[in-house]
Order: sequence, then structure tokens, then C-alpha cells
Amino acid sequence: MRSIREIYDAGGGSPVYSFEFFTPRTAEAEAQFFGRTFPALLRFSPAYCSVTYGAGGSTREKTVSMVDRIQREAEVPCMMHLTCVGATRDEIGALLDTARALGIRNLLALRGDPPAGTAAFVPSPGGLRYAHELVSLARERGGFAIGVAGFPEGHMECREGKQADWGRLKAKIDCGADFVITQLFFENAWFYEFRDYLVDRLGVRVPIVPGVIPIVSGAQIRRILGLCGASLPEALRKELDALGDHDDAVAAFGIEHAAAQCRDLLRHGVPGIHFYTMNRAQPVMLILDRLGVSIRGRTPAGGAP
Ligand SMILES: Cc1cc2nc3c(=O)[nH]c(=O)nc-3n(C[C@H](O)[C@H](O)[C@H](O)COP(=O)(O)OP(=O)(O)OC[C@H]3O[C@@H](n4cnc5c(N)ncnc54)[C@H](O)[C@@H]3O)c2cc1C
Repeated sequence: MRSIREIYDAGGGSPVYSFEFFTPRTAEAEAQFFGRTFPALLRFSPAYCSVTYGAGGSTREKTVSMVDRIQREAEVPCMMHLTCVGATRDEIGALLDTARALGIRNLLALRGDPPAGTAAFVPSPGGLRYAHELVSLARERGGFAIGVAGFPEGHMECREGKQADWGRLKAKIDCGADFVITQLFFENAWFYEFRDYLVDRLGVRVPIVPGVIPIVSGAQIRRILGLCGASLPEALRKELDALGDHDDAVAAFGIEHAAAQCRDLLRHGVPGIHFYTMNRAQPVMLILDRLGVSIRGRTPAGGAP
């Protein structure tokens, strides 16, 4: 399976599109995902996919097996997200060995969030405190292209300001990270400021890939912003407020907004776009359709889950 670093290196100016999924919570949701959602998105020939690692390390085996299944059945490189939460260094090392033995070649190395209701991250006894330690461990074990998270608005726990957080992102790259995928954001100017600082001030040379989420409902976006600390620009907040809880109207607006956001990012030379799909095919399909990305086969963008 190809390494994601190679995929970006070989991009040659063509945008690399990638899709992020989470592990379905029930057998029905899993059947729906592998029966409809994933095949629908696969027609857009993503360069790679990724699967999240549940809060608190709760999906360890499920994440590994879903990444493995995607790679075996679809023959698409799939990146395993991995956090430092709830595991010792040795346990994480063993999981890396298991992943490598299955042919998993790509890893998103994360610290993870503190458990719900607690403010500060406390490392497990014998565990890792920061993502850069996980990058170093994965580099030592060998065999992985390693991605890390970047935060155009600064990470929400970083009290010293966003540039201090961006300096810590540079430390993750110095430990051996091959590419950066950003937290979702709704104002491209924030991404450009972040990217310019990393490239021009800190000398970062690895691909910096924007993460984009389609807004599908007011409730969804309020929940996500609460979890990840990203913010809505005032103009966008007003537009969403005007649509209230009319989910169809919000979703239609969200697709046009995300498509315009992606067009602008592509014009500004991003190496690709990583879509937070939330395990829903249709919003991402409609965005790709608007970007002129062609599909394999002839099924139109409408009608998928
Ligand atoms: C693309 C993407 C995918 C994600 N996928 C998942 C997932 O699958 N599962 C999941 O649980 N979470 C996921 N997250 C969320 C992520 O785990 C959280 O945002 C987490 O709070 C921070 O992780 P990190 O890897 O950025 O941590 P770190 O890089 O370790 O940073 C965490 C905090 O510590 C600070 N810090 C770092 N180094 C130092 C230092 N040396 N001294 C002092 N402070 C320091 C940073 O400024 C930051 O505030 C994802 C985030 C992104 C952007």
C-alpha cells in the first residue's frame, strides 16, 4: 500500500482528495457504511482514506480492523489515527507492530483529548504526554508515513497563543512527521496565516493539508465547534442563524459554502483537501461534483446516503 508522503510527493499539482471516517457504532451502521456510504464515495477515487481513533482510546481494535478492511476490500491506502490516551508506551508500540504486520503504512499521530468533563490531559502511567512523543515512537518502530494535527486557530488548550502552538507543531515535524492535516476551519484567511507562518517563519517543508467539513445542520455544527474549539466567522454565524434549524436549507447552504471554500483553497495551491465526511456520502459527493471531480462509473451524485 502506498505511503501518503509518496502520494503528496507524486501529486504533481493535481489535488489529493482524502476522506476521513469514524468507526460505526452499531452493526446496522457498519452495514450501511460498507454497503452504501463507502462505495458511493469510492467512485470519486480518493487518494487515501483515514479512520479515527475513538475518544479515550475506545475504538482501538475497531479502528485497526476498519483500516485493514478498507485497504483489503477497496485497495485504497487507509491511515490509522492513533492517540496517546489510555495506553502505555509498550502497548502503543505493540499496536504499531500489529498495524504494520497488517500492511498499515500510514498513521496520524495524535495526543487525544482529555476525557469529557476534565480540563487537562493526564498521560497514562507509563504512557505518552504529547503527540511529538508518539511521532518519535512511530519513527523508531519504523515503517510508517506519519501525519500530525495542525490548528489554524491554535489548539484550544494553548494559553500562550497560536504562534506558540504552531511552534509545537514544528516540533512534531522535527520529530519525523511527514505531513500536517488541519483541524476544520471556516475562514480561509486563518489557514493562509497559519501556513505562511509555518513555511516562511518556521521553514516547514512538509505538505500542509486543509481539513474541510460540510455543515449539514445547526445542531451538528454547534456540537462540533464545542468539541474542537474551532470558531465561526461572524458573517457565517449570521447566515446560519438566519437559516435556524431548517436542516435542508442549512445543508444546501453548507455544501455551497464548503465548495466555495475548497475552490479558494485550491486556487491558493493547497496540496489537497481532507474531508471530514462524518460517515455521510452525499454532502462530500455534491462538493466534489461542484469542484468538477469526475466519478468512476455513471451514478450521479444525488441519491446516496
Ligand atoms: C485531523 C485531525 C484528526 C483527529 N483525529 C482524532 C482521533 O481520531 N481521535 C481523537 O481522539 N482525537 C482526534 N483529533 C483531536 C486531537 O486528538 C485533539 O485536538 C487533541 O486535543 C490534541 O492532539 P494533538 O495531536 O494536536 O496534541 P499535541 O500536539 O500533543 O498538542 C496538545 C496540546 O499540548 C500543547 N503542547 C504540545 N507540545 C508541548 C510541549 N512540549 N510543552 C507544552 N505544551 C505542549 C499544544 O500546544 C496543545 O495545546 C484529531 C484532530 C485533527 C486536527
